Amino acid sequence: MEQQTKNIKPGKVYLVGAGPGDPGLITLRGKYLLERAEVLIYDYLASPKLLKYVPKDAKLIYAGKKGGTKHTHTQEEINQMLVDWALAGKNVVRLKGGDPFIFGRGGEELEELVKAGVPFEVVPGVTSATAAATYAGIPITHRGYTASVAFITGHEEPGKENSNIDWSKLATGAGTLVIYMGIKNLPIIVENLTRHGRDPKTPVAVVRWASTPEQHTVVATLETIVGRVEEEGIKPPALIIVGEVVALRDTLDWFEKRPLFGKRIVVTRTREQASELVVALEGYGAECLEYATIQMDPVDSYAILDEELERLNEYHWILFSSINAVQYFFERLYAKGLDARDLKGPDVAAVGRATADFLLHYGIVADLIPAVYTAEGLAESLLDFGVEGRNILIPRAAKAREFLPETLRGAGAQVTVAPVYQNVPPTGCKDGLRAELEGGKVDMITFTSSSTVTHFLAMLDAASEEELRALLHGVKIAAIGPVTAKTITDNGLSVDVQPETFTIPELVDAIVHYYGDQRVRQQ
Ligand code: SAH
Repeated sequence: MEQQTKNIKPGKVYLVGAGPGDPGLITLRGKYLLERAEVLIYDYLASPKLLKYVPKDAKLIYAGKKGGTKHTHTQEEINQMLVDWALAGKNVVRLKGGDPFIFGRGGEELEELVKAGVPFEVVPGVTSATAAATYAGIPITHRGYTASVAFITGHEEPGKENSNIDWSKLATGAGTLVIYMGIKNLPIIVENLTRHGRDPKTPVAVVRWASTPEQHTVVATLETIVGRVEEEGIKPPALIIVGEVVALRDTLDWFEKRPLFGKRIVVTRTREQASELVVALEGYGAECLEYATIQMDPVDSYAILDEELERLNEYHWILFSSINAVQYFFERLYAKGLDARDLKGPDVAAVGRATADFLLHYGIVADLIPAVYTAEGLAESLLDFGVEGRNILIPRAAKAREFLPETLRGAGAQVTVAPVYQNVPPTGCKDGLRAELEGGKVDMITFTSSSTVTHFLAMLDAASEEELRALLHGVKIAAIGPVTAKTITDNGLSVDVQPETFTIPELVDAIVHYYGDQRVRQQ
């Protein structure tokens, strides 16, 4: 080892707590280290969503360890890997669910590193006990209820000889008990607690997959919890919270009460644009399945645009009917050595508020936004201005509806359409999507343009309309506006949700209302 360290500067092992499941609960320090990892060794309970922070060329090693199933690597193998990679000079992040020092064997792994002379750092994480309590609306301490809390492992069979757990002391020794890894032994745990003096009427909550969209909470008493957990089919990973504080959930439950909690919603947008819709839906508690139905590519030739960029001053209007058109137009403008100053001649129109907001990033305040955010709405507003003899430039997708240019030409305008990007269907995500639909795991699909509909259907590749309807049976469909809705109905499907104004926030509101109304109807 001396030999090795002389030649290669040893790396370091960062033992990082991933938090309980919600990827937003990792610490800033943890995220910083993930972004710099060369080797990542991660566990079953660490959210896979955190992997996106790791550099693309990092080596990812799944260490597994799911209670009750075959371990992917033994603890000894994991220890050895940590040592070997660090001595090979790598920056190793060992990512563990929750907090590494709470039932995480973090201590054992570090002892091995010390023996091997490997330097390390530890980053704490939000442990699942506090997360489960928080996300179930149960303050684990509360002045009116309890002043103490104990974290206990339920993995050990209570009553076994040489047990580390003295249930006679624990049963009434702390106001709140949080038991990790206790689902399998729940009947014995309950039996021990009541036998040692805990009131059988004490409230108990069992929280599975805390802080994730699959969170499932069952509340009962020590007397009834075993039956309830069986009825609900609760399996690990779950925590057991015992104590009077559990009663506060009646008032403080918030996470599972969010209007879209438990809903799995497909977001069919371009890779770049999905985030606004996803962030808003997730804010209401939905789980979003993102499928890029459109991929944007530059067009093969910018000849038309390049020519028009030379004579921008001759234009009266430039019309932008999408964010993408804005983005690709400006990329080309800049590539030609021009910028916003060269647009001072023509007026600029945006089809809607989002496109207008996007224009602001490029230093352009839209002169016109129609009242109705469609090509029809834009045409109408422009016709109100009078377009006869006006020169109008429309940078847009290579393939798009001809409505706007044709209408304006019909009213006497000189219209030049300059293709600045093209939509191409992405490849490779069909099977995952089909499996989700066949498994009945999708509640709703959102469409934000006609092309997302046609590309999505192409991606599904159903053999017939019957097969398509069977695949989408029970799945609700949300459309951003009438044009998108028409494409949906033209394909033999029906639209369940459609907002009055065609914006993402309105679409999200409409979805929230839709499920709110459904809930009321079911009650
Ligand atoms: N170091 C981890 C605990 C690992 S022991 C931590 O600090 O949270 C594994 C046990 O943790 C599971 O059996 C379960 O009891 C609990 N656990 C971990 N994540 C959980 C989650 N998201 N929801 C409920 N329980 C969880």
